[in-house]
Amino acid sequence: MKKAQILIPKPGSKFQRVQCKECGEESVVYSHVSTTVTCKACGNILAEPTGSIAEINGKILGNAE
Ligand SMILES: [Zn+2]
Repeated sequence: MKKAQILIPKPGSKFQRVQCKECGEESVVYSHVSTTVTCKACGNILAEPTGSIAEINGKILGNAE
């Protein structure tokens, strides 16, 4: 099943570069995800929706443009 991700900008929202704890792959993760984001390389969960700011499960490297 392919997950469609609809990104609705909210005040204070941003894109962050997150490094996977398992394989080191870097991904850009939206700070207010509405669906679980997994690593494209190994499938590890990178971010989980909490209703507001996503819980990031990895190393935040900084903001992405
Ligand atoms: Zn990974």
